[in-house]
Amino acid sequence: MVEHKVVCWKCGNEVKDPYVNLCPKCGGLLTIRIDLSKASEKNPEDLRQKPLGVWRYADFMPVDEAHKVSIQEGGTPLYKTEALGAAVDVPNAYVKFEGLNPTGSFKDRGMTVGVSHAKELGAKVVGCASTGNTSAALSAYASKAGMKCAVFLPSGKVAMGKLAQALFFGAKVLSVDGNFDDALALARKMADERKLYLLNSINPYRPEGQKSVMFEIWDQLGFEMPDRVILPVGNAANIWAVYKACMELKELGWIDKVPKLTGIQAAGAAPVANAFAEGATEFVPVGSPETVATAIRIGNPVSGQKALKAIYDTKGYCATVTDDEIIAAQKLLGRKEGICVEPASAASVAGLKKLREMGIIEKDETVACICTGNGLKDPDTILANVPKPIPCQNSVEDVERILAQD
Ligand SMILES: *Cc1c(COP(=O)(O)O)cnc(C)c1O
Ligand SMILES: [Zn+2]
Repeated sequence: MVEHKVVCWKCGNEVKDPYVNLCPKCGGLLTIRIDLSKASEKNPEDLRQKPLGVWRYADFMPVDEAHKVSIQEGGTPLYKTEALGAAVDVPNAYVKFEGLNPTGSFKDRGMTVGVSHAKELGAKVVGCASTGNTSAALSAYASKAGMKCAVFLPSGKVAMGKLAQALFFGAKVLSVDGNFDDALALARKMADERKLYLLNSINPYRPEGQKSVMFEIWDQLGFEMPDRVILPVGNAANIWAVYKACMELKELGWIDKVPKLTGIQAAGAAPVANAFAEGATEFVPVGSPETVATAIRIGNPVSGQKALKAIYDTKGYCATVTDDEIIAAQKLLGRKEGICVEPASAASVAGLKKLREMGIIEKDETVACICTGNGLKDPDTILANVPKPIPCQNSVEDVERILAQD
């Protein structure tokens, strides 16, 4: 077991009650301080005795690997996307395709650690408020762990693939009267009464698992860091996780260069990007967030302040992209690279294109775009943006006529 402390990210106060999610002293978010002395006895190459995946980096994880709850998460491909790179004028562009995780998104990286921790605590029930990938991932890991899972679902739009997964894995999917905040408030009440262990975005164990996406990119590039990492920002736990991974590698002296962390938000849900545009360290929540990219349709991001720190500290950037730019980038990935991602994931590639056009990204940068989730999660959005199947007679001539068209 790696020694670690749960502390307030603002005042450093240590929090020992595992059911507490905010600092009792100042209300700040929690984070985990990992004792890196075990890792410091090793070389990066030593990590490679284990297969690529979250648990290759067990020395950075705050749970005991011996009783991990795992479905072989992580170990996703890092593609050198040459055709995409040529199209956006960034020859050294890479795509880390997180859609190939067990439930189809990077959330699995966080849940293997979060649910392993729940198991250590002896929790019998886990829960989250979510319309999306968090509930899909939690449901799967709860099944694997033999725990009950409650998903608090606000009324409103949900992507069919994600809801189908939560139901399929046997979670109790509770359709709560009200919006997301109401659903989350109810889940929290249950957690406060110790009736379930809450694995929402605020849980500090999840980013620990999510650090592994950055460890893997560095590992897959031959223990080199890219110049820049671009990722979509919703509740902002993931950009914080990526930042934390960089800081831990730096603390070990395993890297000198920290990539410029570049967060992309949808124009209709951009509190972090708005704050960045003004050079602010606090953000103002956005009233009714709207975007086709449902996974980042967040107006009041839980870890928004952490995201701003990650971006400023690494001399990164934060920008918005429109829904049209997101859909165009989603298609570009499909048509140039054979990669099918959900709209939120395409935001990173839309951001790459836009920031190159703006001259923020230099042509010679090595850039890794994290494509967070699988396109099959949200088939409705794909079908709304592609042509219909083509009526065809039962004849070779008719097939030839159709293939001759553009
Ligand atoms: C959760 C999620 C995001 C946003 O991640 P945050 O940690 O909330 O910023 C982006 N894309 C996909 C596919 C997701 O599931
Ligand atoms: Zn505090």
